Parts: sequence; structure tokens; C-alpha cells
Amino acid sequence: MTDNPLYHLDEFPRFDAIRPEHGVPAVRQRIAEAEQTVSAIETACPATWDGRIRALHNATEPVWRAWGIIQHLISVSNSTDWRTVEETLQPEVIVFAMRVVQSRPLYDALQALRDSSEYSGFDSGRKRVVDKSLRAARDSGVGLEGEDKTAFNAIVNELSALSMKFSNNVLDATKAFSLMLHERNEVAGLPPTLLEGCAQAAQTSGEAAATAEKGPWRITLEHAVYGPFMQYAERRDLREKLYRANIIRASDGTTDNTPLVERILELRRKMSQMLGYDNYAQLSLSAKMAGKPEAVYAMIDQIGEVALPKAKKDLADLQAFAESHGFSKGPLMPWDLAYWARLQVETLFGYSPEALRPYFPLEHVLNGLFDLVSKLTGVRFVAADGAAPTWHPDVRFFRVTDDADTTLAWFYLDPYSRPETKRGGAWMNEFQTRERCPDGSLKRPVALMVCNQAVPAGGKPSCMTPGEISTLFHEFGHALQHMLTEIDIPEASGINNIEWDAVEVASQFLENWCLQPDVLRALAHHVETGETLDDDMLGRIHASNTHHAALQTIRQLRFANVDLDLHTKYPSPEFPTIADAERQSAERFAVIAPLPEDRFLCSFAHIFAGGYSAGYYSYMWADVLAADVFAMFEEQGLDNVAEVQRIGRRYTETILAQGGAMHPMDVFKAFRGREPDVHALLKQKGLLEN
Ligand code: ZN
Repeated sequence: MTDNPLYHLDEFPRFDAIRPEHGVPAVRQRIAEAEQTVSAIETACPATWDGRIRALHNATEPVWRAWGIIQHLISVSNSTDWRTVEETLQPEVIVFAMRVVQSRPLYDALQALRDSSEYSGFDSGRKRVVDKSLRAARDSGVGLEGEDKTAFNAIVNELSALSMKFSNNVLDATKAFSLMLHERNEVAGLPPTLLEGCAQAAQTSGEAAATAEKGPWRITLEHAVYGPFMQYAERRDLREKLYRANIIRASDGTTDNTPLVERILELRRKMSQMLGYDNYAQLSLSAKMAGKPEAVYAMIDQIGEVALPKAKKDLADLQAFAESHGFSKGPLMPWDLAYWARLQVETLFGYSPEALRPYFPLEHVLNGLFDLVSKLTGVRFVAADGAAPTWHPDVRFFRVTDDADTTLAWFYLDPYSRPETKRGGAWMNEFQTRERCPDGSLKRPVALMVCNQAVPAGGKPSCMTPGEISTLFHEFGHALQHMLTEIDIPEASGINNIEWDAVEVASQFLENWCLQPDVLRALAHHVETGETLDDDMLGRIHASNTHHAALQTIRQLRFANVDLDLHTKYPSPEFPTIADAERQSAERFAVIAPLPEDRFLCSFAHIFAGGYSAGYYSYMWADVLAADVFAMFEEQGLDNVAEVQRIGRRYTETILAQGGAMHPMDVFKAFRGREPDVHALLKQKGLLEN
């Protein structure tokens, strides 16, 4: 074990040395050591912060750090070897996690701490850690005995294996489909970046001579290909083909998720009932800001009421637009929407997101993002490439400092797409959270951000569309909340201990900034000419931001609603089958009825393999809060530098600094001075006149 880099983890993991063969021995050894310490804590049963909370953290943290790095590598350097490591370790990790969270002596010690005089002297952060740990223990079955406990743990294990299988099925089904296009007319309309990427994909699958100009082009269901293809491909038949392949992804053959969906819902139902809840949504929501399914349904109704009529009007306008531009095939079909919406934006606002790409080289966007955040928070970002090993040569490394050049935090940025080994999409995570050690020393936060930007090709840097810039801002918003925390206890510092439906506030708040004309102007720097964008264009980009916001909103409401229905009311006379739940949400929120063969639940990894089960609504919930936070800046004027700085510091000191140490409603009120108001979001999306 002496030379296992996954066992010996310093401030920065040695990614240059960590290999799959280190995974199993490192985690097993860490678990064995933790078991011993945990047993010792159980025997002593100390009802104090240091004896119970801190000691348990110190005992278990090495396990979670090593396991977290393995999961990270599976996301960014996927291989059969790493998958085998994960499959081998996952059951053992779960047994360990359950053993800790279900430990009766640890629970009793926690309860005694809760009733002690020490507790009454705690600040809100420590109180929350104790209270939430008690609830987590109860919701993890600490109160169950004998056969019940065995059955409960079997459910937890099976659920975890099912979610891993679900996710791998989606990945494999996505990889299994491709269209190799050979004729120029088949790719008519596609932007150069996409052609470049698809030609490269063709090369790696045997078409060694493929070029962006002459093809062939390999079209896949990867998000970064599917999205632009649906927006730009002129060949309606090919859009239809791709659309149909996408909606049945992972719904038959060896990657069929249909039985998994059924089983996952059944197990979640059983598990919540064993814990005394009526349904799984109650269990999920008891630990969230919303608290109860009713609060979420109320939000869905409130926003839906405003968005639905507007969405229907948006669709009618789009139909009229398409017809006036030569479309004569009857009502628009689902594979027409993105294409005609993009053309409509180009016509109404006079630009195409793809045509803007050369204005936004990643490096320049990054610098503009740093400048904006420095203005808001007062911190600075310094390139520190080489100061820590990375998992891929393209990964960047940065240091976050204050005015006096004191290091506050570090972060990695993994910018480019690697479809063979890297998960699609963008995300933020952490390797280290802030912690004040007993000797007074400070462990500083280490964050990571992953994007899937186009790989720089032909000597040109990677350039971004406004949508991709939003994604980058989003993830950076998360990373900031992790890095600028001022909480010293690791259980509540950074993004830890924040209610799931409040976590997206920091990310969506930052996203709100990026399409503001002044911000966008600073991000723009044409890759060849160095030009920025003029005021007219900036104004049009900003105005286009609310275009079709109602359609996007009801799409989110549809997903949130079906997720909640499946976890509250299925099965019932109202929803005898999963398909009924799907159909009813679609009838209410889809302006174009889904095709009968639509099986989107089979690839809805958010709720079946991610953490969003009975929690998909969280995006909208947090959006309400984030829009209201941003409105405070707007009320003073975004060009009022002094006010932006003043409110920015207040944001930094409340939402970013306090994070999980206060209830999200209290953090919000500390910033805003009142409770959140949904009107800020409706206004921001252009759903209300004023
Ligand atoms: Zn997010």
C-alpha cells in the first residue's frame, strides 16, 4: 500500500500515477481502517461535537475521497478497467456507508448530543449538521431491526446496482446508434464545427480519410451532436430519423431500461413505506427546501398557468413562421421544432448562435468570466498549470486568491469533449472541501469543472456559442459556492449540506449574467480579427434570450411533473401504468403530443441514475430564487458599478460564504431581506408584461 497513490492522497490527487489497479486495494484498505475507528467511536459513544461528529468525519473521509476520485475518473477517463473497479467496489462501499449511517450507537450518541447543553451553544451550521445527520440516519433505516433491516439494505443495494446499470445502458445505447452520412446534401445546413467533429468521429470509426469538407460524417446521439443537428440539418427526413432514434434510446434489446424503470420505482416505494412515508417523494422532499410534494405541485401550477397559454401562442407563431417560409407539410412535428425555432431566431433577431462562435474563443471567454466574478466577489484567478497533476493533458489548473495574493482555493477545468472516454454534458464537483483542523491549519477547497467544448482543430482555438457560454457560467457558479465558502466545518462548508433544490441558485444566478450586453461585449474577441460585437448585435442577442422561454419552461414543468407523479401517485387508479403518468404530464404540458413510441423515461438518467429522483423540479425551484437574487442587481442597474460591487459582496458574504450552514430560506432572506417572489422569474423569462 506504501506506493498506492489512491491510498495516499495529498492536497492534489496524483492523477499522473493513479491507475485502475490501485482502486480496489486503496478503497478496501481505507474501509478496513475506517471500520476500526468507527467501532472505537461506537464503543466510547461520546455525545460531543469533537468526539462524535469530527471523529466520524476524520474516520470516514479517506474512504469518500478515494471513492470520489474513482467515480470522477469513470466520468472523464472511462474504461472497462475502471468500470470493473466500480462494479467490484460499489457493494462494499454501500455496506460500509449503511453500516455507518445505520449504526444505533452512533445515532444514540448523536441524539444525546442533540439533547446536550453543548448543542444549545452551537451556531446554525453545527445545529444543522446534527439535525440533518439525525434525519439522514432515520431516512436510512437506523430505526429498523432484524428482517426489516436486512430487507431494507437489500433494497438499497439493488437500487444502487440498478442505477449504475441504467446509466451504463444509456451510455451504451447512445454509442450503439450512429448514422454515417456520405452525401453532401445529407449534411446541408450543418455548421463547420459540427462537420469537423462528425468527420473526426468518422475517422475514429474506420473512415480514415474522412474530412469536414468531403465526409463521410458520423452523426450520433451525443448531446453535442444531436442538439445542433436538430437545429441545423435541412434534411427533414434525417432529423426525423435521429429524433426517432433518440426517443427510443435504451428502450429495447440488451440496453433496455424499461424493466429497470419499473423496478426502481417499486423499490423506492417500498423503501419509503418502510420508513413511514406514504411515498418516495415525501422521503425525497423531507430533506429539501420545498419540504413537501404539495409545495412543488403549487409551484408547477403557478408557473404553468402563466407559461402554458404563452407556449401555445409561441407554437402557433412558429407554425405561421414556418409556413410563410415554405413549410407545407401540415402541423410541425417534434423534429421540426428546433430547426424552425432556430431559423425564426435568425430572422427575428438577425443572428445565428453558430455564426457568433468565432467571436468567443474559450480562453477569452474564461478571462471575461474571471473579470466579472472578480468585480462581484473581489477574488482573483491565476493560471497555475503544472502546479498539480491532471488526468488529461488538456486539463487546466487555477489558483483563487484574495487581494493580498493569499490562496483561497484551487480548481481544475477540463474543457474539451472526448466522446470515447468522457461523459457528455458539463458538471462541477469537488476533491476537497474547506476545513479548519484542530491545529488551526486550513484545508483549502479544491473544485473541478468539466465541459464538453469542441476540441481545438486545424490550429484554431475552441470557440463557443452563447449557449455554451451559459453552461460554463453555470458550472462556475457552483464552483464559486464551493471555493468561496467561509465555513470551517467540512460537513457544512462549500456545496456540502445545501438542500438539493437550493444548490442550483449559485449556478443559475451566474448564468443570468452572461447574456447581459455589457458582459457579453467583454467576452467577445473574434478569433481572427479580434473584433468585439456592436451594441446593436448585443441588444439583439439579449432580446432573443426570452424567445420561446415559455416553450422551454413547460418542457421543464412536464419533466418535473412526471417525476413527481411517478414518485407520489404511481401506481394508483389515476396512474395504473407508468405510461399513464407519462401521457398525463404530456397532455398537460406538451404543446406537441409525443409519438406513441416515445420512451424518453428510459434515458431520463437524472431521475433514475442521478440524484434528481422526485427532485427534477429543483431546477425550476432554484431558478425562482436565482432570478430574484439577480433582480436585486437589476433594480439598482447592472451598469452601476458601485452598486453591483456592493450587492456582489453581499451575495458573496451570504449565499456563497454561508452555503450549507444556514437553511436556504434564511440565507436567501439574509441576502434579499425578504422571502423569494416567483414574479422575478416570470418577468425574467418574459412571461409577464412587467
Ligand atoms: Zn447545476
